[in-house]
Amino acid sequence: MVRVKHTPLRSCAACSRKLPKAQLTRVVRNADGRVEPDPTGRKPGRGTYLCYDERCRDTGIRRGRIERALKSSFTEEDRTALVEYLSQERQPARTGDKR
Ligand SMILES: [Zn+2]
Repeated sequence: MVRVKHTPLRSCAACSRKLPKAQLTRVVRNADGRVEPDPTGRKPGRGTYLCYDERCRDTGIRRGRIERALKSSFTEEDRTALVEYLSQERQPARTGDKR
């Protein structure tokens, strides 16, 4: 029996578009209340997602969308690290992503 591969969809915290997890970056609030990027998508804690749109990465952090989604505030250190991470991260090859 052939099973159709299920692709879980997640919403971007900034634009609310629903995308496959592979096209989003997970950001997680860990047990210590620190907010950090989670490229593996496996860290424990409350997570939210951002798509690879530059505007989302900007508004997601600057307009507090991530903080709201995680019900948490960035420390200055976390914010700096996250901005740095997101600006350097490369988007994986898109497959079948229609806009
Ligand atoms: Zn987005």
